[in-house]
Amino acid sequence: MSESREPAVPESRGLGPDALRADCERCFALCCVAPAFAASADFAIDKPAGRACPNLQQDFRCGIHRDLREKGFTGCTVFDCFGAGQQVSQVTFGGEDWRRNPGTAKRMFEVFAVMRQIHELLWYLTEALTLPAARPLHGELARLRDETERLAGGDPDAVLAVDLMGHRSRVNELLLGASELARAEALGARKDRRKERRGADLIGADLRGADLRGANLRGAYLIGADLRGADLRTADLIGADLRNADLRGADLTGSVFLIQSQLDAARGDASTKLPPALTRPAHWETGARRAGGPAPGGDRRPGARRGGSPARGGRKPGTRR
Ligand code: SF4
Repeated sequence: MSESREPAVPESRGLGPDALRADCERCFALCCVAPAFAASADFAIDKPAGRACPNLQQDFRCGIHRDLREKGFTGCTVFDCFGAGQQVSQVTFGGEDWRRNPGTAKRMFEVFAVMRQIHELLWYLTEALTLPAARPLHGELARLRDETERLAGGDPDAVLAVDLMGHRSRVNELLLGASELARAEALGARKDRRKERRGADLIGADLRGADLRGANLRGAYLIGADLRGADLRTADLIGADLRNADLRGADLTGSVFLIQSQLDAARGDASTKLPPALTRPAHWETGARRAGGPAPGGDRRPGARRGGSPARGGRKPGTRR
């Protein structure tokens, strides 16, 4: 088929890629107030939903930003709202903050919880549209992305009325199809059951130098796994729990559905090869380790939700200063 006959991917008409990156300067610290924290390896304190974290300053900046890990707030460093915070703060509520308008606070926090999930779905749909092998699905993906963008642009009532479960199910189905196309291209005719590791318990596994190209690691538990030098190109890592996984020397270029907060929760160094859209976590330079293993309820990181679905996430590091 000639290039001119390939299906064109409609351009996004609404939110651009920057809108899916947390911009804490334009957010009223919603992730520091709206969710509950459970004291754990990730959070030093209990905090009820809707109450501001005691470390939050009047200017919506974190008073312990530079010492989050040392002070037991590692969970804050791996949270990513996918830009939902600034969308709710600046668009849905038109720049009204919950401190000056306490009457809107409860509603704003409820909307944030929904918007975060909408933005996460948008992020994955946008990512799927970058997969060349998923070209046969690009038209459907673009239509669903546009539909999801419209959901994100609704007023508070409309956002709260979104059928998240139904919408996520439709998105998941397409993402799964995109993943299969991408991985099939990597695997070719070779069928390798060892690469079907969806939801697998690989906690602490020795996967040094493993050829994991095209592997299905959706929702896999890779906590503390030794992935040094592993080849993870075209591996589907959606929802994989990479807390404390050792990614030194691993090749993650071209991995499918890897998100920043998964990297932030792992270990790595300058030899880890990353997809271009993701950045090397600052703590990799210092060799600082995350505080611990799996956390009880209240965990806000991507690995906290299992099953390979787009998941609730954690918080992007280094943003709320
Ligand atoms: S980033 Fe700072 S203010 Fe926000 S929840 Fe974490 S510790 Fe609290």
